[in-house]
Amino acid sequence: MSTVMKGDASGRGAVEGYRVSIPARQHPYTEEEIQAVVHVMRDVDCQTQGPMLAQFQADFAVFTGSKYAFAVDNATNALSLAATLCGVQPGDEVIVPAYTFCASAIPFGKAGAKLVWGDIHPDTWTIDPEDIARKITDKTKVIVAVHLLGMPCDMEAIVKLAKAHGIKVVEDCAQALDARIHGQHVGTFGDFGCFSFHGAKTMTTLGEGGMLLVKSDEDARLVPGIRHNGCCAFPGDRERYWVPAMSSVDMDIDGFWPNNFCIGEAQCALGSVQLKTLSANTDKIIAQNDKLRALLADVPEITANHIPEGYRHVRHQYVFHFDGSAFGKDRNDLLDLLTGKYGIRSIVQYYPLYRYPLFQKLGAGTFDCPVLESWWDNSFSLPMWCGMDDSVLETIARAVKDAVAELKA
Ligand SMILES: *Cc1c(COP(=O)(O)O)cnc(C)c1O
Repeated sequence: MSTVMKGDASGRGAVEGYRVSIPARQHPYTEEEIQAVVHVMRDVDCQTQGPMLAQFQADFAVFTGSKYAFAVDNATNALSLAATLCGVQPGDEVIVPAYTFCASAIPFGKAGAKLVWGDIHPDTWTIDPEDIARKITDKTKVIVAVHLLGMPCDMEAIVKLAKAHGIKVVEDCAQALDARIHGQHVGTFGDFGCFSFHGAKTMTTLGEGGMLLVKSDEDARLVPGIRHNGCCAFPGDRERYWVPAMSSVDMDIDGFWPNNFCIGEAQCALGSVQLKTLSANTDKIIAQNDKLRALLADVPEITANHIPEGYRHVRHQYVFHFDGSAFGKDRNDLLDLLTGKYGIRSIVQYYPLYRYPLFQKLGAGTFDCPVLESWWDNSFSLPMWCGMDDSVLETIARAVKDAVAELKA
């Protein structure tokens, strides 16, 4: 097998030679979205930190039902802001699932915390609250709840644990915009909620973008000054409006170092428009995945995660698990056939983070995650994007069935 994989590292991007391609982006921009960007380019003087930012934040707060929303340049920096505001220091411990994208952990490691890897629940594949309970010590400062693949974590259990121990909860909602538990949006359960509008996510603000939801008034007061080092608008109520310069350095941000985590006005204008169609797009992604699950329901070797009652799981990826142990085959045997013979390009995402040299060399190589170890090596992702019709889904399901039958024979 010597196919050269093109497209980006997430496995997205059309690659020739397959029956089903995976577009780099979930869906094309609408004309209204394009016009919103062009409007900022043509007609708006202010290019950053202006009315579009205020509008996007207000729209996002309404959409998620959050009191405070702060737009930033990406989710990694939303997580960094959360780590700062949680007061993470060297010597603290942060519990973060080992099964996630690297950015869930990096901002906390950079702040000096010891990363304690959480195991997954065998049914939902998100961080297991019982495993968190086992790993809490008197040094635990933060629990990072990652709604990976768009599946909400068990927030009731996690928030209860955190409250009992005086620990902060940061929700990584980068893959879970519009995911909800009994109608309540993820990102509003913990102290902070971090969202991504990267090019591979359901909604993208020109390739990069993010949002931080904040629960407390005190944290919300600090965010603008920590988000931007200098160049905030001069408050209008000063005797001499030009004194002093660099007004945000003049702001009291309680001794924190500020950053530049800002997002531009064109991106914010686009974000506001995208929010209007977001739930409809998410509904399509969910319906497609339901259909794929139904088509594969009679293949006992292939399973999907269990969706608890009342959970809106937005299926950021179409991940399945293959159990070929009865006939001595594993995930790689299946993917060799699927990609090599049946023309269905499947990928494997999010290696347990402790397996990467990056984390090992930074002192985060030890782990105790038996469920993840027994599950991950047989998981894989089928192609997905917003707009797969029934015939595409049937082609994929047929190929999976034929490949499993061939491995069994
Ligand atoms: C994409 C992603 C991030 C990082 O988002 P950026 O906006 O690219 O910084 C963080 N966590 C998870 C789970 C992600 O999927």
